[in-house]
Amino acid sequence: MKPASASFVTGLRCLVCNASYENGNLHTCPACGIQGVLDVQYDYDLVASVLTPASLITRAFNHWRYRELLPISPEALLSHLHIGWTPVYDVPRLAAAVGIHKLSLKDDGRNPTSSFKDRASSVGVLKAQEFGFTTIACASTGNAASSLAGLSAAVGLKSVIFVPQRAPEPKVTQLLIFGATVVRVMGTYENAFDLCREACGKFGWYDRNSGTNPFLVEGKKTAGLEIAEQFGVTIPDWVVVSVGDGCTIGGIGKGLQEMRRLGFIDRVPRLLGVQAEGARPLLDAFVSGNDLAPSATDTIADSIAVGTPRNWRRAIHQIRTSRGEMIAVSDDEILEAMRLTARLGGVFGEPAGVAGVAGLKKAIAQGMVKSGESAVVVITGNGLKDVQSAKLAAGQALEVEPDFHVLERRLSELSIIKIPQT
Ligand SMILES: *Cc1c(COP(=O)(O)O)cnc(C)c1O
Repeated sequence: MKPASASFVTGLRCLVCNASYENGNLHTCPACGIQGVLDVQYDYDLVASVLTPASLITRAFNHWRYRELLPISPEALLSHLHIGWTPVYDVPRLAAAVGIHKLSLKDDGRNPTSSFKDRASSVGVLKAQEFGFTTIACASTGNAASSLAGLSAAVGLKSVIFVPQRAPEPKVTQLLIFGATVVRVMGTYENAFDLCREACGKFGWYDRNSGTNPFLVEGKKTAGLEIAEQFGVTIPDWVVVSVGDGCTIGGIGKGLQEMRRLGFIDRVPRLLGVQAEGARPLLDAFVSGNDLAPSATDTIADSIAVGTPRNWRRAIHQIRTSRGEMIAVSDDEILEAMRLTARLGGVFGEPAGVAGVAGLKKAIAQGMVKSGESAVVVITGNGLKDVQSAKLAAGQALEVEPDFHVLERRLSELSIIKIPQT
């Protein structure tokens, strides 16, 4: 029997050589090798006949509401966890602080394992099951790993996860609790990635690495689909996304294009891709127009500390198609954005999670984004993921003896209270 998902998916197309392949268990283009990232193709006329605004009214508010635009079979047993349809908040005080007319935050830290990656992992585990695998593996700076561990646990798959040496302890703990086999590779993310690929090939595990797996980016796309549906006619001028491998921004861009094609929005917002100054190979390729040159990585934003982005072509293609821009921010700017986003927006993001806010502020200061425009920043991960970095931004607690007069004096020294003069 033909897989039922083939009813909407027409095939896979290589982003390098344009060759088309049948829908199946492929990772990269057989002709182009690892550079040949594949893109899932759909019969959009068929999708449009089913996925209408009227049909969406009756559907559950999670990312499966767009299932005709996802490469999953209708028989797939969806995980019971709530993924996607994350809230969008209007944050006028944060808007004033970054200098823009209208600003919204889309809080993807609200997903089951507290990051954007759940959108991709939820599709990854279903593809593993569809293709008959019992074990799924990935290499990750942290969030893809904890997400894969959580989603595998939810659907009953085994998971093996390769983490780089510098993965923060809370993230490692999060995947251990879900029962994953954790391999800490004494090296960089690139070392972990290569080891994982080799192990998948040799041991017959399903490879969840989103840089090369064409189906995962479709899960990431759902944030773009949601932004289009949640904003509709008030779609902002800019969608701001932090960039590591480039799958998130590439996916969101594709989702927005699809929603325009289906008539949910009448224009696609411009994408602003934000990298850390200490890990900006994708930005350099975007500016130079050359192929990607791998770089060293040095930033507190570990989730976007990627020296060899795998999906740079897709990312740059989507950013250019949207007439978008890229910018890099320093660790200090990221820490400042962490405070501002929490204190003026009420949302606590990890460094990579708030890098978009830092990038937007800088882009406005440089005139790249105009202060009269509107933007939504996708907060891609929750701040409790990386308490070590948050502590750098947060400051210290006030220590006092259990004595009211000491408390009063200390608070008054800090101008938190005023003691009336007698
Ligand atoms: C993975 C990740 C990103 C970047 O996504 P890419 O697909 O690697 O570009 C941004 N923020 C957080 C919190 C992430 O976990």
